Amino acid sequence: MSDINIRDLTKEFDDVTAVDNIDLDVKNGEFLVLVGPSGCGKSTTLRMIAGLEDITSGELRIGDRRVNDLEPKERSIAMVFQNYALYPHMTGAENMKFGMKSVSDYTSEEIDQRVRDAADILDIPELLERRPSELSGGERQRVAIGRAIVREPDVFLLDEPLSNLDAKLRVQMRAELLQLHRELDATTLYVTHDQTEAMTLGDRVAVLNDGEIEQVDPPQMLYDFPDTRFVAEFIGSPAMNIVPVELTGGDEPYARHEHFELSLPNPELFTERPDSAYFGVRPEDISLADNVAGEAETFEAEVSVTEPLGESLLIHCLLGDDELHVKAEARSEIDPGDTIELQVDEERLHVFNDAGDAIYH
Ligand code: ATP
Repeated sequence: MSDINIRDLTKEFDDVTAVDNIDLDVKNGEFLVLVGPSGCGKSTTLRMIAGLEDITSGELRIGDRRVNDLEPKERSIAMVFQNYALYPHMTGAENMKFGMKSVSDYTSEEIDQRVRDAADILDIPELLERRPSELSGGERQRVAIGRAIVREPDVFLLDEPLSNLDAKLRVQMRAELLQLHRELDATTLYVTHDQTEAMTLGDRVAVLNDGEIEQVDPPQMLYDFPDTRFVAEFIGSPAMNIVPVELTGGDEPYARHEHFELSLPNPELFTERPDSAYFGVRPEDISLADNVAGEAETFEAEVSVTEPLGESLLIHCLLGDDELHVKAEARSEIDPGDTIELQVDEERLHVFNDAGDAIYH
């Protein structure tokens, strides 16, 4: 197994810079997820690592080898695609072993044994003789993953492998991928636009925005301490509330809005103190003031919409022109038009500057 080291990697397509000078290290045996919105450059990054796309500049290393100029089959990688990329006229087993002769020194018997071993790992021996048209989406993707396993690559590259599956199967396959990763312990780079997938699968998650990496951290770290406003809003559902405020108060700083004034209790956390900034708080870090004891600062907001989510109630509130989402207890008796009293968990507040960088959290 090998680590992946990416330095100053750039890809330009005519006038589009799809990947803009990124550095990224995937450690040996790590499961790293590259996540970001559509068009941010995830697939292009993965395809450059796989050797399916020329790089414009930068350096790619897999293990101790510089692979910039190596053919895909010389890179010791295996890739799994969103659309499975199986040959329709071949059975599962034939798909799994296709092309193996050219990338390995194994005999036909050894290759057949490896296909059977991979099928056992994935619990799909019964699918080996079927063609793709006789398989469900989830089964096809298992065969495609099997094809990657058979190659015993140093590095697995997966490009949105679960996107074509229905929601229930996605959850199941997520668990299976984690189990598989535990068994194989292979260096894995996984691309998705789905932040839930990123959070549940990644040892670490790299958030990509407009060709640049915003932050690379373990999932909980990204959630609790987003370095940028973009990460704060991208990771978490419903998204973090972000509201423009003024920063006042000298040694005892406050975030002041037309509808609230909240103290920021740890002034030493500020890395800068502009006059105006953006205040961030997650929906679950706001609560209905009736439900909490003590003399906390509270403020009022008008309810515009309520959404029962089953395990909680999502309340949309208006604060003048700004909107705030609050995750309250399920079955809370709140209706549109009500005025409710809210308080925030003051240890879980974030402030971002105009450039979108976190300056307090
Ligand atoms: P998605 O989640 O929609 O697949 P992505 O994050 O994987 O998006 P890329 O496919 O890497 O994004 O594309 C990044 C940018 O590069 C986009 O602006 C895209 O339009 C552009 N791009 C990708 N491939 C090409 C190409 N072959 N020619 C020109 N532009 C391209």
